[in-house]
Amino acid sequence: MSESEWTKILGWPGYRVYRSEINEEAKTVRLWVRRKRGNRKLECSGCGRRIHEIAEVYEREVRDLPCFEYRTTVVIELYRLRCPECGIKAEKVALLPSKARFSKRFEEAVGQACESAAVRRVARQFGLAASTVRAIDLRYLERWAQGRRRPALRQMGVDEIYLGKKQKFLTVVTNLETGEPLWFGRERKKETLDEFFEKHLSAFQRSAIRAACVDMWEPFRQSLEQWVPECRIIYDKFHILQHASQAVDEVRRAEFFRKGGAARDLVRGKRWLLLTSWLNLDRGQAASVERPVCSESAHSQSLSPQGEPLAVVELHLRRSHVALPAELDRPIALAAAETDGETSPHVAGSSGGHLELLPNKGTDGSD
Ligand SMILES: [Zn+2]
Repeated sequence: MSESEWTKILGWPGYRVYRSEINEEAKTVRLWVRRKRGNRKLECSGCGRRIHEIAEVYEREVRDLPCFEYRTTVVIELYRLRCPECGIKAEKVALLPSKARFSKRFEEAVGQACESAAVRRVARQFGLAASTVRAIDLRYLERWAQGRRRPALRQMGVDEIYLGKKQKFLTVVTNLETGEPLWFGRERKKETLDEFFEKHLSAFQRSAIRAACVDMWEPFRQSLEQWVPECRIIYDKFHILQHASQAVDEVRRAEFFRKGGAARDLVRGKRWLLLTSWLNLDRGQAASVERPVCSESAHSQSLSPQGEPLAVVELHLRRSHVALPAELDRPIALAAAETDGETSPHVAGSSGGHLELLPNKGTDGSD
């Protein structure tokens, strides 16, 4: 094959093949390329300015996409330039974006393969080490992130992730319109969010933020108030319901400990029945929720100090819960599940507090 045919097949814009070598045994192709006659625009890789003075000519070897079954290596002739700003610097070549021994399109092929396969699988496919594949993928993603248009941040979400006892919290800022995480910061202080507003957004970008959805964490609210005073703060329904669910639980617990005696047995173990949607209860479960009401209403002595019967308090909660629209029903169950896991030590602590009250209850409570 002639050199001009190799030039066409290789398809590196501005470069021509001036020598080729095929090794049938090793199944490799080696192509030597240099700039085409008209391609003389040299740019400094340090500052990007156009340079005319060449200090040195050298060769660099990179791996390119394979040609059929043949692994392809391109030996490219490059220049070191004398830049008035940076001194002696290599020229900037669009086809070779990194210092690694791979062409841009080879790295793109590896990066694309990584989008749908495990690193080890890609490493085997291309005959590379897994660590090399990871490094290529990282560069590929960085180039992709640099080149893409970033959607404006109009609706932001701020929440934290609990990492464990040592690292504690991580603050996460997301774009709620695109669902994309934008930034992570250590801890969940006011300063954490301040850093995002200060270093990662311009004043113009901040002014574009219309709404911020946060949990009821005071430092976040303070930071939002300082940096984006016009932005509306929205507490998401999950966190509100979590608080509501905690309040319901607290009332239930308080009533439980105030009663004592037989009434306690009626309420014991009913927590999940109370939290479950009425429609999802079977007949036996529904009856066991109703039962305390019937037995209590039969005896007028069941009035609490506030003048309200215990079971009726719970029934009110029950009924109002049922009256919520169906779409709100599920988050309640979720919030309850969440609270259950999170507050179990807290529950133990508070019941300990209540136990101290119990002797007093026992002495003056005649029932
Ligand atoms: Zn320069």
